[in-house]
Amino acid sequence: MIFVAGSANLDFVVRASHIPAPGETVLGRGFQTFPGGKGANQAIACARAGGAPTQMLLALGDDAYAQPLEASLKDAGVVAHVLRTADQSTGTAFICVSDDAENAITVAPGANLALQAQHLPPLAGCSHLLLQLETPIEAVTAYAHAAKTQGVQVVLNAAPAQVLPKALLDAVDVLVVNEGELASVAQHQGSVAECLARLDVRCIVVTLGHRGCCARMDGEILLQAAFPVTPVDTTAAGDSFCGALTAALSQGHSLALALQYGSAAGALACTRPGAQSSIPTHAEVQALVHSGTPSGADAELRKFCGFTA
Ligand code: ADP
Repeated sequence: MIFVAGSANLDFVVRASHIPAPGETVLGRGFQTFPGGKGANQAIACARAGGAPTQMLLALGDDAYAQPLEASLKDAGVVAHVLRTADQSTGTAFICVSDDAENAITVAPGANLALQAQHLPPLAGCSHLLLQLETPIEAVTAYAHAAKTQGVQVVLNAAPAQVLPKALLDAVDVLVVNEGELASVAQHQGSVAECLARLDVRCIVVTLGHRGCCARMDGEILLQAAFPVTPVDTTAAGDSFCGALTAALSQGHSLALALQYGSAAGALACTRPGAQSSIPTHAEVQALVHSGTPSGADAELRKFCGFTA
């Protein structure tokens, strides 16, 4: 079983011709709300895309915004442990998407900031704890150490990008980052290889968008080219990747196969709009993996990352 502790936000999305400049008002169109937040997205990805039994700790306000978030988790089969805050509203994100696919996002974390060390239940029966950085870093660090003490593997998706306290990095078994997050964690602007050389986490996975991903495990480098798709909305590609990867690891698969599952889930998420609404099913992920993994791009990926052959 996987346990996820993290954020849940209701996304308020308006489409407009352009993103308003300071002081400007733009008449938008096509308003929609979408359940989101990295924690909830990844919990749903573990369950739906990964087919793994999943539980999640999250904090929600006592308001109407909480209901669609709980419903979305339940729909995916995630067992939710909800901390209900009376004085903070449910986390929200206000997103303007322009016709040229730029976006501007303002997040009001609200209840997400209420998660503290003591809120994590015992992790009996869990193999992996999956964490992100949209909740207070002190709580994330405490959860990672609690998992370690209980013999549970800690997977950290270090997003949004920030410098990590050593106490947190020390407790991480698998670190998942995109290029920008890798630069922040390594505190270095340079190639993937250079950044990895500055970190001593046992297993690091770096997602590289349409290029694919790579990993370093016990000094060995693994490369995985992306599954070719025509993207319409890349929201939640990273979250789908993290969930499917963690699910595959919890099911005892090798890291190489877990990278394939993560890549297939990330690619499929790019073909659909929204966050949680774009996360594929386990059957879809399996079908893409079994259709044959992309090959021939390893040399290109190796060069891009700066690994010498
Ligand atoms: P994030 O959204 O966190 O920045 P990435 O953009 O690196 O994460 O995407 C995560 C993973 O999703 C990638 O490693 C890749 O496997 C898959 N992915 C992302 N964009 C594409 C794309 N355009 N085509 C195919 N796969 C993609």
